[in-house]
Amino acid sequence: MALEVRTDFPGGNACAIETAALPERDVVRFAADPRGGTEALWFWIRIEGCTGRPVELVLTNADTCLGFGAGGRTTRPVYRHASGDWERVTETEIRELPDGQHEAVWVVNPRASSFDFAFCYPYLPEDLAWTLSECPGYWHEAAIGVTQKGRPLTHLANAFGNEPAQAAGIYVIARQHAGETPGSWVLDGILRHARRAVDPARVLLWAVPFAHLDGVLEGDYGKDPFPYDLNRAWTRPPMRHEVLVIQRDLHRWARRCRPALVVDLHGPGAAETEGAYFHLPRPSRPEEHVDATRAAALFIRERLPAEFIREQPDVQATYASRWSDGGILSSYVWDTLGIPSLCLETPYAQIRGRVLSREEYRRLGAALLDALVAFTQA
Ligand SMILES: [Zn+2]
Repeated sequence: MALEVRTDFPGGNACAIETAALPERDVVRFAADPRGGTEALWFWIRIEGCTGRPVELVLTNADTCLGFGAGGRTTRPVYRHASGDWERVTETEIRELPDGQHEAVWVVNPRASSFDFAFCYPYLPEDLAWTLSECPGYWHEAAIGVTQKGRPLTHLANAFGNEPAQAAGIYVIARQHAGETPGSWVLDGILRHARRAVDPARVLLWAVPFAHLDGVLEGDYGKDPFPYDLNRAWTRPPMRHEVLVIQRDLHRWARRCRPALVVDLHGPGAAETEGAYFHLPRPSRPEEHVDATRAAALFIRERLPAEFIREQPDVQATYASRWSDGGILSSYVWDTLGIPSLCLETPYAQIRGRVLSREEYRRLGAALLDALVAFTQA
């Protein structure tokens, strides 16, 4: 009996799927679906009809997935049996084809008739609901508008603040790029730690957990689709409805606190292994913007566990872009609120040989929150 491969569930993504039954194993060949975008990387498939034979999973478009290619040996996708928990694969083989292309190959030994296989630990609204249920009474969840496709877009608030403002303010955004799930696991650590670490009367903490909710649910990678992704649409006026919604929320927050910092949580290219790092504004931006962002990044970096962070913690992008430098969140926040915004890229799989678990992402999130609170009091 042939294997069945499905992607028709929240967060599912793959295309060009082929299956084959070899004498000693089953094979699933698939590509990460760009879903109309420029970049591809996120995938999540469900394999059914397993008989206990090993299943070889082959990502056929590795060379055209962001940051993958020949360097993808360090990637460590995750798998989960129906009632079980996610586990990392322990090995990635990069196979070079006669024409010079590369495929990434993983082997899973199924312990049940079906299992899921994804590029990194998925994080959906049900994961957030579980976390909120473990923080009773602390977070207020409310819709702040709707997505471009009409789904309620929610934020979390630890308090509502006052006018005139008394508390210092931190505002956090995750999943502007829908497939960048490490950002969600770092945010999960922030949300869980806040109950112990943040007095809502002193620090007003608001968060948008799924900025590109449509893409999260539909399984998009969500980076650089045409005409522009969320983090290129922060122009005035904005170019996407979610950005308009979050801008309104950001200004409500800013009136109700003394705004200190905005934090934007992302995942980098597939094979990043040197550690998490902060993006600095491009050289074309005002010097004060670059300097304030660098100072905030260095302040935060000194307070984070060293094993998580790149030795050179701030990176100033100079690679070609087809977007205006004024169209990213950091530029909008500086130009309208006069405060820095930190974009943190957290790797998908490992840092200097250490494979990352969900608990480790949460530990980074908790440490980040302590550092952010220290920044508001400095
Ligand atoms: Zn990103």
